[in-house]
Amino acid sequence: MRRCLLLLLCLGWTAGWAGELPPPPPQVEHVVIFIIDGLRPDVALRADMPGLRSLMREGAFTFWARTTSVAITLPSCTSALTGVTPARHQVSWNRDQPAAQQGYPAVPTVLELATKAGRVTALVAGKSKFVALARPGTVTHVSIPKTTKCTDAEVAIEAERVIREARPALMCVHFPDGDAVGHAKGWGSPEQLAQYAGTDHELRRVLAALDHAGIRSSTVVLVTADHGGAGRTHGGEDPRSRSIPWIIAGPGVRPGYDLNLDAKLSVNTEDTAATACWLLGLKPTVELDGRPVTAAFASGVTSSAAPDPATVH
Ligand SMILES: [Zn+2]
Repeated sequence: MRRCLLLLLCLGWTAGWAGELPPPPPQVEHVVIFIIDGLRPDVALRADMPGLRSLMREGAFTFWARTTSVAITLPSCTSALTGVTPARHQVSWNRDQPAAQQGYPAVPTVLELATKAGRVTALVAGKSKFVALARPGTVTHVSIPKTTKCTDAEVAIEAERVIREARPALMCVHFPDGDAVGHAKGWGSPEQLAQYAGTDHELRRVLAALDHAGIRSSTVVLVTADHGGAGRTHGGEDPRSRSIPWIIAGPGVRPGYDLNLDAKLSVNTEDTAATACWLLGLKPTVELDGRPVTAAFASGVTSSAAPDPATVH
């Protein structure tokens, strides 16, 4: 009977994507996805971000992950949370919409899948346009500013509160301030580096809330971005806009593991939703463009994840 159940669960995991997957680590009960707005990978490495660095030591990472080809916030965050490209989720806008005309993704977010599976979910975002990712009834706890944006600190305070009061199984936390400084002063400017140091302080505050709630050891934390940037803008195919960090830490994750040791593995933003689905045993209702990044986990180690022989010089 148990074996049957396990088989059914495995079939469920593989319904949204082709191929077989290993089971997720059994200790995982919570997933928190942090999206740091505008965080270009090299800027993340230059900024004073001890929280991010400690997650790298604890977990697996790549600084060569890719966001969508539009590389703007709302379509890219929608891809991260739905697991499909903008052409399929159809969120092409990046502004607030009039309440009467508010649009939503054409496919469910992973938050919606989790909520419908009876899990407690939360979306704490720093920009009002994120309301597009919180169709009524699809997220248990929604905290989004009514107009334009709030600060990283306000986001962190809300995230702390939600963790303390609700211990969500799946949570997305969006920090907005680095992007605003990028548009004002430039990507990679001293001001933006200083801002991301501040964002890291807020990230650590939320991680501490997971500790205080007693759920850190059963939580997988994923830190990524919606896009990078160059000059005072971002968007399109420019690799400085499309490259994003992707750092994952928590139970079962390989410590200090650079995902680029597997030359065949590339991580795309759609993989974020797919990985969250896999970790929480959620069944996608549409075929996802993303795939779970199982190579980040000890249970996902396969022969293809071994370093390539040095045949090319
Ligand atoms: Zn921007």
